[in-house]
Parts: sequence; structure tokens; C-alpha cells
Amino acid sequence: MGRTGLFGGTFDPIHNGHVHALKEFIAECGLDRTIVMPACVPPHKKFEHSVSDADRMRMAELAVGRTAQVSDYEIAKGGKSYTIDTVRHLTLLYPDDELWLYVGSDMLRSMDGGWYMIDEILARVTVFCVSREAADTPLLLQSAAHLRAKFGAKIVLSSAEPLPVSSTQLRLMLRQGLDASAYLPAEVWQYIQEKELYRR
Ligand code: ATP
Ligand code: MG
Repeated sequence: MGRTGLFGGTFDPIHNGHVHALKEFIAECGLDRTIVMPACVPPHKKFEHSVSDADRMRMAELAVGRTAQVSDYEIAKGGKSYTIDTVRHLTLLYPDDELWLYVGSDMLRSMDGGWYMIDEILARVTVFCVSREAADTPLLLQSAAHLRAKFGAKIVLSSAEPLPVSSTQLRLMLRQGLDASAYLPAEVWQYIQEKELYRR
């Protein structure tokens, strides 16, 4: 019996905040297997589709290297990517494993009310959460307490320092031709430049 971790997102593009949280996820939760899962169509937000699914997959692979595996399960399946489908899929694939789910503080806040079949998700996983901004902390504690009380959720809050950066902010910077290299893994920055991604 091991521990499998699921780290989902649109990764449009994957950035240093993701990599930072992923390393904490693996280390703090003692994961034996970690799966980074680029979503096809995220159910909860408007998605610009400014680069191809293949580009998002490739950038994820470049960023993650050998620290985790990148799965094309949601992209290959197509359509809206509901976390519950992927959680069920991983439960079937690794029936003897404990399943852990990573979410950032913004996602933890949105879980109750926004997420399809949240009760089943929370019955099947242990949630691990890294704060995105220092200012998130009070709300983070509130959300965790709420989810524990309402769903009996198992939630671990990371002690890691926040690394505040978002893909939205990076898409804006890149569109304006600004240097975003401080926020991106070097291989991803190079890939974006070579393929002239996010230029318009
Ligand atoms: P966008 O601005 O397009 O929503 P994003 O930066 O929020 O992009 P996502 O792909 O939406 O990135 O995020 C995937 C997961 O990583 C989510 O659970 C999100 O909360 C988390 N996450 C994103 N950025 C950070 C960060 N800087 N620190 C910790 N967690 C993060
Ligand atoms: Mg986001």
C-alpha cells in the first residue's frame, strides 16, 4: 500500500508556483507516485485555449522532469474534466493506494459549492493545500474547518512559504512581450520563446 498524489490544473502555462507546491506535496505527504494532470476543459473557469493541449502537456513534462509523471488521461478523454472522474479512474488503477489530492488555497475555498460530487471526492482523498498568498491564510483555515465539519474531509495544510504567481498574470506578461523568466522553470521559458507561445 502506497500513496498516490494527484496534482491537477490547466497549467497554461505551468509555472514556479506549481513546481514549488508539487515539491511540497511530494515531500510533506510522503508520496510514492505523483501524477500531474493537465485538464482538458476545466469545468470551473473560462479557458482561453491560447496554446494547444500538446503544448500544455510538453511544458508540464519539461517543468516536472523526473519528480512526477505527467498524464494525458483528461486531455485524451476530452470534454470537461471533472476531478471526480479522475479520482475514480485512479482508484481503479491503484486500488491499494491512498489517494492524495493537491489544491491551492483558491481551489480549497471553491470546493464546497463549486465542485461536482465534492462529497464523494472528499470521501476518497486526503487534500493537501499550499497557500498562494500570505493573505490567504485566515480564509484557508476557515475553509479547511468548514470542509472537515461538513464532509469529514481529511485536509493537510502545508507549512510552505507562499510563492505568489499565476498563469493568468504570466499570459498577460507574455502577450506584452515582457520577460517572465523569473516565474517559469528555465526549460519552460525556453520552450515558450522557441515556439512563440502566448504572443496573441
Ligand atoms: P490561472 O490563473 O490560469 O487559473 P493558475 O496559476 O491558477 O492559473 P492552475 O493551473 O489554475 O494555475 O492551478 C493548478 C493548481 O495549482 C490549483 O490547485 C491552484 O490552486 C494551484 N496553484 C496555482 N498557482 C499556485 C501557486 N503560486 N502556489 C500554490 N499553488 C498554486
Ligand atoms: Mg487557477
